[in-house]
Amino acid sequence: MSDVCPECGGVLKFEPSRKRYICQSCGLSLSREEIDEIRYKDQKLNEEDEKERVRKEYLKWWATKK
Ligand SMILES: [Zn+2]
Repeated sequence: MSDVCPECGGVLKFEPSRKRYICQSCGLSLSREEIDEIRYKDQKLNEEDEKERVRKEYLKWWATKK
C-alpha cells in the first residue's frame, strides 16, 4: 500500500537523504511519524462520523415513530 498526501491525495515519495516523504503533486514534506499520526486521526474521525450517523438514524426513527 503506497502513501498518499493528506492534503491533495498525490503520491508521496520517500527521500532517503532527507528521511522524509515528499508529495509529488503539492510538495508537502512529511516524516513517517507525521503520516502515521494523520492516518490515525483520520481513522478516529471516521469512527466519530459513523457514531454520529447511527445516532441521527436513530433520532429519525424515533421521530417518525410518534
Ligand atoms: Zn500533496
